Amino acid sequence: MRANTSPAPAQQLRKILAFESEKGYSDNSVIGGLDAYLRNFVAESSLPLSHRLPQILGALPAGGYRALHPVQRRRVVEELLKALSSGVPVASARQPQPPARTLAPEEPRRTTRAPARSPVVGTLDSPVTVLNGVSRVTAAKLARLNIHTVRDILFHFPGRYDEFAGVQRIADLRPGDNRTIIGKVRSSGVNVIGRRREVSEAIISDGSGSIRVIWWSGRWMARRLKEGMTLALTGKVAAFGGRLTLENPELESPDDESLQNPRIIPVYGATEGLAQRDLRGKIAQAVTDFAMRVEDELPRALRERFGFPEAPVALCTVHSPASLADAEAARARFAFEELLHVELGVVKRRKEWEAAGGAVPLPRDDSIQRGFVDSLPFRLTRDQRAAIDEIAADIAKEAPMSRLLEGDVGSGKTVVAATALLAAVVHGCQGAIMAPTEILAEQHFRTLCRLLDPDAGDEKEDLWFREAGRGYLVLRPPYLDRPLRIALLRGSLTAGQKEDARRALASGDVDIAVGTHALVQRGVEFRRLAIAVVDEQHRFGVAQRAALREKGESPHVLAMTATPIPRTLALTVYGDLDITVLKEMPPGRPPVKTYRLVPRQRDQAYDFVRKRVEEGRQAYVICPLVEESEAIEAKAAVQEYERLSRDVFPGLNLGLLHGRMSSADKEATMRAFDDSRLDVLVSTAVVEVGIDVPNATVMLIEGADRFGLTQLHQFRGRVRRSERQSHCLLLSENPSPEAQERLQIMVNVSDGFRLAEEDLRLRGSGDYFGTRQSGMPDLRLAKLTDVDLIMKARSEATRIVDEDPELAQPEHGALAKAMRAFWDRVSAEVS
Ligand code: ADP
Ligand code: MG
Repeated sequence: MRANTSPAPAQQLRKILAFESEKGYSDNSVIGGLDAYLRNFVAESSLPLSHRLPQILGALPAGGYRALHPVQRRRVVEELLKALSSGVPVASARQPQPPARTLAPEEPRRTTRAPARSPVVGTLDSPVTVLNGVSRVTAAKLARLNIHTVRDILFHFPGRYDEFAGVQRIADLRPGDNRTIIGKVRSSGVNVIGRRREVSEAIISDGSGSIRVIWWSGRWMARRLKEGMTLALTGKVAAFGGRLTLENPELESPDDESLQNPRIIPVYGATEGLAQRDLRGKIAQAVTDFAMRVEDELPRALRERFGFPEAPVALCTVHSPASLADAEAARARFAFEELLHVELGVVKRRKEWEAAGGAVPLPRDDSIQRGFVDSLPFRLTRDQRAAIDEIAADIAKEAPMSRLLEGDVGSGKTVVAATALLAAVVHGCQGAIMAPTEILAEQHFRTLCRLLDPDAGDEKEDLWFREAGRGYLVLRPPYLDRPLRIALLRGSLTAGQKEDARRALASGDVDIAVGTHALVQRGVEFRRLAIAVVDEQHRFGVAQRAALREKGESPHVLAMTATPIPRTLALTVYGDLDITVLKEMPPGRPPVKTYRLVPRQRDQAYDFVRKRVEEGRQAYVICPLVEESEAIEAKAAVQEYERLSRDVFPGLNLGLLHGRMSSADKEATMRAFDDSRLDVLVSTAVVEVGIDVPNATVMLIEGADRFGLTQLHQFRGRVRRSERQSHCLLLSENPSPEAQERLQIMVNVSDGFRLAEEDLRLRGSGDYFGTRQSGMPDLRLAKLTDVDLIMKARSEATRIVDEDPELAQPEHGALAKAMRAFWDRVSAEVS
């Protein structure tokens, strides 16, 4: 292979070094390793003592070049190249003993790239186009993966790793294996599969046997293959029609010695038009050129305590690990770092709020509290009383309360909230309660009126809305020595009405305001907001909570949710809140009986609904989730409503509820259902939160497998509002064992907490609450199932903030910066 006219030794070495760099510093450019070659080179050439080359060689660790980390290897190679071109002639006394075989090409193998690398330009924050071989077109593809900067590409971690056991004999291949083979092309060509799908195919044999190879990506591959060519192919072995086939393998250099050894290859989330191999190449390049520049934001002491590798080293390991265990350890380091950002933000914010104080202390007025409780039409449960006491203790202080009240649908959170709002009123301040939807806000308004004023009976209902529409409603609770004014702010108010309501809030004429997000919008002013209740808090992000705080000097905040919060979330997203749980349901409410039905049982389900309606009950029918758009979903719901009205329940009164209806129409439908003028309410998921119709006892869910467990539980909660036995029927067209298993969990488990944990486990963090609106930080590296790591990050964050509340110490500088960047990203995402 080697040319007869051996190039000058220095030139030869330069080529080898260039090749070594091209190979990603894998020490595969010369047989026997680079340092053996170098030692030989130094020994054979008469180099001046002062020459850098022997010095560089002398500075190598005991294990030689091979023992170095790839990043360090790169430095050595660069230094060597510099030393070689330093101008001092490298004369050789004798021809250096050539290595057994040089893999470095005599001629540049690829004409597209010069053997010497262009110098590294740019910073970690430069666009990816600063990387060698990343064109604008490639950059656009990378952007689809949310990769914009060099830093982004470095932190694009593999989704998994494939292990390759080194080159295998074709005869030894088994379906399912990830393998590398080396063999000769026996034949190749283009084949057409199915309807006009062109694929490239080849038969490769290696003496032990032959195998079919197929590339699905069209005919271009076949053109490159010539009979007799030797190929190294790496890919997954499949069995097609009884024949072993290597599918979409990657081509590697058959001379590459590293193929012989076991390898672990990272597999990245790729995108259309960007092959795995290309992406891997770009990332490897970024690692080589930039990993060393990644600043380690973890303080050294902390890193050592946890035994974490330094960031640049860990980055190299993540992208080219020697073992899966190494990869996991390196990933854990970055996951920890990310969780630390979350926790630092959460712990710090909590501390700041506490330290800022400034909330109005609302000490309990025992006689008014007793008067209120005695006026209720029911006895409070033990959990409700405990929650009320906890809240009373919180709001008596000057430090603003940050509490999350968690309880299944129907557990009676509203009455707990009412006591808190009442406390504000007692002290001449204002309270606000926000709901995620207008319907829910309206219902809260109604419920609060009933709870606060037992004389505010149903006959007043029209008046409530009319008066509230004007501005506010005046209640006269018997236990208060003054009237209580309550306003409902909703989108459907006319501009004039809105103006009236706003004026009443700003002047302090209104004691309690009920509304949607509209309450936190700009332009809404309170005279003295002392307490804010946020219902279905999982719909509100951290950012909204902060915005709400800004409405008052610093109001006490009570968040409420029917979604059980798994422990890891309680430590992260909700980490700045204290948590109170209502476990106990008001007495006499049997758990909902749940059934899993297959499509052919649909008629039985309809019969069941009909029977309950005959008994005077009402039912919900939930339409399947349509992901594409609310408009399509609404259309589907309309069709289902029409079908059910016409073909299935012609004698019954049906109503329809979907997201595209005007809030007036929604309200009218809700009202009709509430008044029992409708028997069956056909609805999309909008019904999930906030309808409170105790007479409804059947919940039929179509396409149940499309919803998350938590959401199904939420639906089911809608019919657990009375002493009557109620039923939930889960219909699904999806026969897959996974889908059916998930639904079976619903049948077996009625504990919302267990369902939430299951949901988190099955769907992962991103999906847990559906989407962005959750205010859930978008974790890139950490997993929310990583309880142990989260706990560690939590305690570490607490320690750091205790020690250095402003994160002003130099060793926390990088951490503080990264933490802020993380939380900025979160608020950008939720707003
Ligand atoms: P959620 O926690 O879902 O918001 P609500 O506060 O709407 O639940 O309460 C559900 C229903 O239970 C309401 O009709 C409420 O009046 C009633 N309720 C609340 N507490 C009790 C109790 N201790 N005993 C009986 N009924 C109660
Ligand atoms: Mg509620």
